[in-house]
Amino acid sequence: MKLVGFPANSFPRTRFPATSISFQGSRPKKIQPHEVTLRFETTNVSPAEQQVIQEKLPLFLPQAGLARTKALKNKFLNLSPFSKRQFASLVELTNGITAIGTNFEVSQEEQVCGERAAVTMALQKAVDKLPYTQLQKMSESERSAFLEGLKVKRLIMASSKPFEAEIETGRPCGDCISWMAANTLFTPQTQSMVLYQNPESTAGPKYTFRVRTVQDFWPGFKTASIGSSSISKLPMTFSPEAKISLATMGISPSKVSRVIQQAMATLQSHYLKAKITEKTVNLATALFTVSQPGRSATALKTISAQQIQWASRWPQEADLQAVAQGLQSLNNATVKGLVVCYYGDNPMPASPKSIAKIAQKLGGANLIAVIEDGALTVTTLQNRMPYLHSSVKA
Ligand SMILES: [Zn+2]
Repeated sequence: MKLVGFPANSFPRTRFPATSISFQGSRPKKIQPHEVTLRFETTNVSPAEQQVIQEKLPLFLPQAGLARTKALKNKFLNLSPFSKRQFASLVELTNGITAIGTNFEVSQEEQVCGERAAVTMALQKAVDKLPYTQLQKMSESERSAFLEGLKVKRLIMASSKPFEAEIETGRPCGDCISWMAANTLFTPQTQSMVLYQNPESTAGPKYTFRVRTVQDFWPGFKTASIGSSSISKLPMTFSPEAKISLATMGISPSKVSRVIQQAMATLQSHYLKAKITEKTVNLATALFTVSQPGRSATALKTISAQQIQWASRWPQEADLQAVAQGLQSLNNATVKGLVVCYYGDNPMPASPKSIAKIAQKLGGANLIAVIEDGALTVTTLQNRMPYLHSSVKA
């Protein structure tokens, strides 16, 4: 393996051991490439790259085994006592360096997932491999080449679940997707792979090696904006899934359009006032659709909030505050649905962290309104994050 982005002769080559791997704890098993169907569940991998993956499959299979073994070790050692779930990822950086991380839970509040643990380990490894004296001699372009090499090429994900249940693995959580969507270490082309055993009834090969990319987890690599004209002049679009959700909530698109436009216009005027004294302003309104006892019409309840920046690295997002206030003030049983309207300076106001949390609590069919590509667009949470955790209700 050639390591990319390092000055010549910095360190010897490393090679990943292609050995037989334990897939079921105590029962080691070696899986051969001919037993595996390679499945591209994405349109974001070029034919040339597909060929590379096909050729590297004999290397990826034991790597998947190593990741799975690490998740199983986690289970035996009880390293994730709060979630009681064990995941692991083998990460490969563009420069060729690999590392395996598993989720590690020290406190209920802050937990480290397998994906982020692996990426952190690989980055540290890469930096450690670069001698300080050599770094001092590197030119600006050599340093950029080194940093480019730290980008994540692929993740091979695994868990401690039964091997057939690994089909559900590979749905990164909102915190991990927020790393991926930031587009610094990850790119839309970063690959995510998982090996699982097919159901008994499946004809053909016994296993599947599934490939997706970050683009599939987070299709919205766009930048939200505050719009250049008044809200009422912006065209408004609904995704097909958003229209279905509105029908379920018992509210017409024309009524909801009016209410969303009003909410956004109010946010815009608050924004302009707040901007006089504040550098960055992020706002959200949660529009709850609520059923009224004894009446067929759906009522709307509006709650707004502004992002609080406790410190530069500790934002408290406006959308989560607005939704939380609504959940506290409304009778849960009457809530039929939710439209979260975002407005502000954050280029990614509909953040993966917020979407994952709101979807987990209220379901992936709830809606988001944001100004994007010169239009006021309304989509479902699931449109923004198609691979929500399997425990999220539709
Ligand atoms: Zn995660």
